[in-house]
Amino acid sequence: MTDVAAALRDAAGRLKAAGCDTPRLDAVLLLAQALGITPDRVRLSPDMKLDADAAARFAAMLVRRAAREPVSHILGRREFWGLDFKVSPAVLDPRPDSETLVQAVLDAVPDRKAALRLVDFGTGSGCLLLALLHELPKATGLGVDASEAALDVARDNAARLGLAERANFMLGDWGAGLAGPFDILISNPPYIETAAIAGLADDVRKHEPLSALDGGADGLDCYRRLIPDMARLVAGNAILALEVGQGQADAVAGLLASLGGVNPAGIARIHDLGGVARVVQARNTA
Ligand code: GLN
Repeated sequence: MTDVAAALRDAAGRLKAAGCDTPRLDAVLLLAQALGITPDRVRLSPDMKLDADAAARFAAMLVRRAAREPVSHILGRREFWGLDFKVSPAVLDPRPDSETLVQAVLDAVPDRKAALRLVDFGTGSGCLLLALLHELPKATGLGVDASEAALDVARDNAARLGLAERANFMLGDWGAGLAGPFDILISNPPYIETAAIAGLADDVRKHEPLSALDGGADGLDCYRRLIPDMARLVAGNAILALEVGQGQADAVAGLLASLGGVNPAGIARIHDLGGVARVVQARNTA
C-alpha cells in the first residue's frame, strides 16, 4: 500500500511532465479530495496509507488533471476570498488576482454596515458579488450575466454561502434594462484580446467559457459597452471598480474619466500581488 508522501511525489512528477504550473499543490488538493481530508492534513501526514479505493479515486483525478482539466473542475469547487465556491465549465474560475477588486472596494467603503446596493456585471460564479456581500452585512446585490448556466452556479453559491436573501441574479446584457441607482458597481468582464486566446494555457483555453474571456480585438469591447450603462446607474458617491487585464488600466481609466460624474484625478489603479495594475476604481461625485 502506498503512502501519502510517495503518492504525492509520483503525482507531482506526472503533473509536471504534463505541463501543469503548480504540480505539487494540485496533487495535494486532489489527494485531499480522494482521502476526504483537508489539504493541511495531507501535508502533515506523509506516512498515511492510501487504501485501494482512495488510490483509485486519486488515479482517476490525476488522469483528468494531466489532460489539463482545471483542479477546480475536478473538485467542483474553488476557494476565493476564504469562501468555498462551486465552479463548473459554465463559469470563469475565480482567480486570486480578482481578490484585489474585493479588497479595493472594501477599502473605499466608508461604512461597512450601511445598506449598500451592489451590482456585478458578468457575475459568473458570483464570486466578486458574494465575497462583498459576505463582508458587507447590510448590503444587497444584483448579479447580471448573459449565461443562464452561469447564473445557476451563482445562485447555488449564494445559497451555499447563506447569502441568498441578499443576492438576486438576472439574465442580462450588461446594464440594459436595469434601473439603478447602485452604490457599488463592479465587473470583471472578458478582457483577453481575441488574438491572444490561442496562446492561453490549455487549462483556460479548453476548459473555461470563451464568452468569459474574449474581450474583442483590443480586449476592451466590454468596457466600451458597460461603462456608458454604469453612468446611468450610479448613485451619488457610488464606487465603480473594474478588473482589467495587464496593460489595460490606462485605457479603462480613460473610459471612466469620460463619465460626467467621475473626477479623473480621483481614479485609482490598484495592483495585484504580482504587481499588475489589476483594478481601476472611481467614484461618482455628481
Ligand atoms: N484573468 C483571466 C485570465 O487571465 C481573464 C479573465 C477575464 O477576461 N476577465 O485568464
